[in-house]
Amino acid sequence: IEQELIRSEKLQLVGQLAAGFAHEIRNPLTTIRGFMQIFHQSDATKDEHKVHYDVMIKEIDRVNSIIGELLQMANPKSGTSKTETNIGEVLTDIHTLYEPEANEQGIKMRLQVEPLPTVYLDRSKLHQVVMNLVKNGLEAIDGSGSLALSAYENTEREIIEIKVEDTGIGMNPQTMEKLGTPFFTTKETGTGLGLMTSFRIVEEIGGKLLVTSKEGVGTTFMIQLPLYELKMYR
Ligand code: ADP
Ligand code: MG
Repeated sequence: IEQELIRSEKLQLVGQLAAGFAHEIRNPLTTIRGFMQIFHQSDATKDEHKVHYDVMIKEIDRVNSIIGELLQMANPKSGTSKTETNIGEVLTDIHTLYEPEANEQGIKMRLQVEPLPTVYLDRSKLHQVVMNLVKNGLEAIDGSGSLALSAYENTEREIIEIKVEDTGIGMNPQTMEKLGTPFFTTKETGTGLGLMTSFRIVEEIGGKLLVTSKEGVGTTFMIQLPLYELKMYR
């Protein structure tokens, strides 16, 4: 009976997500259709419709990102495939990937990884989570600032801690409460799916995703991974 309950809960979740996706895709389509209709009926010049075109492009981009996230979630490769993983390497890759973009925005990106024991987990999933957190961190910084990426072994608690710290706009308690809710976003072209996926993945790995934040000061996301399990699980 318990199994079945879990199964029906899962189906319910899938249904909610599908409804959410449908809604999030239909909204921009409605906007775009409305604007097309206005163009069709109006005698205004192309220049006079510039604002409409800009909104349409943004809405199309949003649909595109939502579909991207959907594909990522549906990716068959996203079934677990555990491999020996060097967490330092994962962080270094992400640092290398985002540093040019950060520099261009005037953001200083720091990387600090201590030598860590090799763990056994789905490397691409961990990559995805840290990437989501780094993207959010960079997006939270308006103008110059810094984003620090670090990992260390907390030997006392037998966990590995991965931190993504930004000096961005931070969050108020109301926003923090909604983190991880599907489609919750405060960004114009956000999808509100990054953190939902991240919480889910970290849970799958057997870890915890914690957040502290202060408005106007910055935000720290911390992934805690149970070392004992990840070293043994083969
Ligand atoms: P998206 O990035 O598409 O908005 P996410 O699920 O990644 O979706 O994030 C949801 C919301 O959480 C963001 O819109 C933002 O309001 C808030 N958020 C997440 N990370 C940060 C951060 N580092 N600093 C400030 N706000 C954040
Ligand atoms: Mg995001």
